Amino acid sequence: MTRNVIVTGGAGYIGSHACKALRAAGYVPVTFDNLSTGWEDAVKFGPFEQGDLLDRVRLDQVFAKYQPVAVMHFAAFSQVGESMKDPGKYWRNNVIGSLTLIEAAVAAGCMNFVFSSTCATYGDQDNVVLDEDSVQLPINSYGASKRAIEDILENFEQAYGLNSVIFRYFNVAGGDPEAEVGEFHQPETHLIPLMLDAISGKRAALTIFGTDYDTPDGTCIRDYVHVCDLVDAHVLGLKWLEDGKGSRVFNLGTGKGFSVREVIDHSRAVTNQEVPYVEGGRRPGDCTKLVSGSERAITELGWRPDRSNLAQMIGDAWRWHQNGHYEK
Ligand code: UDP
Repeated sequence: MTRNVIVTGGAGYIGSHACKALRAAGYVPVTFDNLSTGWEDAVKFGPFEQGDLLDRVRLDQVFAKYQPVAVMHFAAFSQVGESMKDPGKYWRNNVIGSLTLIEAAVAAGCMNFVFSSTCATYGDQDNVVLDEDSVQLPINSYGASKRAIEDILENFEQAYGLNSVIFRYFNVAGGDPEAEVGEFHQPETHLIPLMLDAISGKRAALTIFGTDYDTPDGTCIRDYVHVCDLVDAHVLGLKWLEDGKGSRVFNLGTGKGFSVREVIDHSRAVTNQEVPYVEGGRRPGDCTKLVSGSERAITELGWRPDRSNLAQMIGDAWRWHQNGHYEK
C-alpha cells in the first residue's frame, strides 16, 4: 500500500532532505509548497503540489487526492532578524498558516503530525542545558510563532486526538553528501553558507554579529546538527506515531556548542582557505547561547546523530556550495 506523507515546505532546504529520507524509507513524499522561498528544482523524490498554507480549499484538495498517513510540516518563515522587523509576516504565515493546515489534516482524518519547531522557543537562558522540559520564553517573533503552534497542536490533541511529534531544532547545517539537494536560500542569512560565500568570493566578508557576548570568545554559541541526521529523526518520529506511541516533544541537537569564531576556525581547516570577516554589532533577537540536551531523542527514538560534527557539516556544505544551486 502506498504510504503518502504531505511534506509542507518540501521545496526548501530541510524539507527537500526530508523528502529524500522519506523516499528511502518507503514513503511517498508529497511536497506542498508555495515556492515563496523554496525551489521547484529541489522537488525530486515525489509529487509536487503547489499551494499556500493559508488556502484551505487547496489543502482540502491535496488531502483528498493523496489520503496521507501523516503530515510533516516544515513550511515557515525562519529568520530571527526579519521576524523582529516584520512580526506580522511571522504570525500570519507561521501561525495562521499552520492552524489552517492542522484543521485541514484533522478534517481529512490524518491524525499523525510531525512539526518543525525550534530552540528559539526557549529564549535566552544562559548556561542552562536546554532539555524538553525547560521553560519556553522566546525573545523573538519567530520563536514566539513556533511556540504558539506547539500550543495549537496540544489543544488539537485534547479536542480531536491529533498525535504530534514536535522537533525543536538547534542550528541545522550541512547537506546531502550526494549533493542531490542542498542549502540555497535567497537571501541567505545563515552563518555557514554566508561564510562559504565569503571564502569563495561570491560575496563580501562575513560580518560577525556581536563580539561582546558573555561567552569565552565574545561571540554567540550554537549547537549545529547535520540536516541528514535531523531528517532521519523525522522518519523515526513518523514511525513513532505510526506505532501509536502518542505525542512527544524532542530536541534535535548534539549537546555541544560552538562559537561563531570556532565555526570560522573549522571552516578554515576544512576548506584550506582564509575566511574574510569583519566584526560588527549584535543582531537583534539573537540569544547568547543555545545548546541542546538531546538525550531523549537518542534514548527514546534511537536517534544517532553521527554526521553532526563541524568538519562533516562544513565539508558537505562546501561540496554543494561549489556545484549546487537551483533556478527559479
Ligand atoms: N551570524 C553571524 N554573521 C552572519 C550570520 C550569522 O555572526 O552573517 C551568527 C549569528 O549571530 C548566530 C550564529 O551566527 O550567533 C548562527 O546564526 P544563523 O543565522 O546561522 O542561525 P540562528 O542561530 O539565527 O538560527
